[in-house]
Amino acid sequence: MLLKITTTHQPASDLSFLLHKHPGKLQSVALSNGVAHIFYPEVSDEKCTAALLLDIDPVGLVRRAGNSGPDFALAHYVNDRPYVASSFLSTAIAKAFSTAMNGKCNNRPELVGIVMPFEVHIAVVPSPSGGAMLIRKLFEPLGYTVTLKQHTLDSKFEVWRDSKYFTLTLAGSMRLKELLTHLYVLIPVLDNEKHYWVSEHEVEKLLEKGEGWLKDHPEKEQITRRYLKGIGALTRSALGVLLEEDTPAKATDENIADEATMQRETLHYKRLREVMQELIRSGAHSVVDLGCGDGKLLKMLLKEKQFENILGVDVSYRELEKAMDRLDYHTLPPRQKERIKLTQGALTYRDDRLKGFDAAAIVEVIEHLDTDRLEAFERSVFEFAKPGVVVLTTPNQEYNKFFETMGKDTMRHTDHRFEWTRIEFETWANGVADRNFYRVTFKAIGEEDEQAGAPSQMAVFTKNNDKQ
Ligand code: SAH
Repeated sequence: MLLKITTTHQPASDLSFLLHKHPGKLQSVALSNGVAHIFYPEVSDEKCTAALLLDIDPVGLVRRAGNSGPDFALAHYVNDRPYVASSFLSTAIAKAFSTAMNGKCNNRPELVGIVMPFEVHIAVVPSPSGGAMLIRKLFEPLGYTVTLKQHTLDSKFEVWRDSKYFTLTLAGSMRLKELLTHLYVLIPVLDNEKHYWVSEHEVEKLLEKGEGWLKDHPEKEQITRRYLKGIGALTRSALGVLLEEDTPAKATDENIADEATMQRETLHYKRLREVMQELIRSGAHSVVDLGCGDGKLLKMLLKEKQFENILGVDVSYRELEKAMDRLDYHTLPPRQKERIKLTQGALTYRDDRLKGFDAAAIVEVIEHLDTDRLEAFERSVFEFAKPGVVVLTTPNQEYNKFFETMGKDTMRHTDHRFEWTRIEFETWANGVADRNFYRVTFKAIGEEDEQAGAPSQMAVFTKNNDKQ
């Protein structure tokens, strides 16, 4: 498997500084399934080519994947994996060129921002469906000129016709970091074979490597689906973020002794206690915390024996990791661990995992959704997941004037898309209840002002049991 990157930027040898790889040496990097060799077939002031040759160990691959057992098949050993560009090449790029990919260059930091002319040559890429068209649709919107050479299966047997393999050449001008992240994401997108590393972490990696270009790519949905190998839940989470440009909320740093933060925190715990009371009162045994963030409510739920089955869902994997830490998830006694699960998901997508709960908590989440996604949220929660009771909170915008540190037109959090007055919230919530066969009651949270009401507002929706 061979990748070559050439530049004619002057002096072309700058490429070796950017890649952090000495042009005079052959360097090798060990990978879990083989070795990547990095060398320079050509270095001059006019032209510099860096090559990454990936030597995959197909036997080790099979053994490590545990496939050599009873269902042994020759195809496990004799296949295209050592030759075609696949997720292994992405892993090799990330490992061999990690500094460049992170946009760093300690010795020559000024090089990082320079747009250079590049030519990329990938010896073999597979393109099963869509063929050349798919490859063009992926790379051309990013500014590359795409040249493809399709290989016949065997020149002696013309009836076998073309193979699914192409040699790909890309030409374009960009920063090296951009080029590497494009390759990192798009190479596995072309490969239909199973990836060896698709996990929830991939969503974060995809979003991180795709930052700055994936959101605006016309094929972003296809890229996301194929990159995550069509694993529905992961794809939905990634798309949830990409399509909604939904940057996860920053968690409040509990150590900041700043007064406004303290005030917010105190209010937040008050709010969480009120939510707990409603959930306890509902008699629910199973609760899903939608947009659970760093797990404050989950921790409170776990302490209450009434809740036998608790699920925390959030779009942000980072928040879920924080929640795991807060819960000491990995060292929970088995009985406790059985009661609680955490999963990544986007609330604006229908998700079977959210069905069948006695109650749902949605605490300070809706204001993070774009208003044009509220309908999708309503349908996925109230029409599709249909918990028996939904306890939902959101800020009361009328109260903002009492927060001294807030400007007139600002919101309580930089990621908030809206903050509603009581009338606005009640109108929306009444509509949700009517459309989905729920009853709804409202409650103020925090100290109430006669005119402006309380800082936070809560709606408790109860499903009408006689309706489906
Ligand atoms: N409920 C928590 C966190 C509130 S902050 C608490 O009260 O402490 C809002 C949370 O909603 C963030 O963790 C954010 O990642 C999550 N979120 C935002 N949009 C989301 C979406 N579309 N799907 C799932 N979670 C979302």
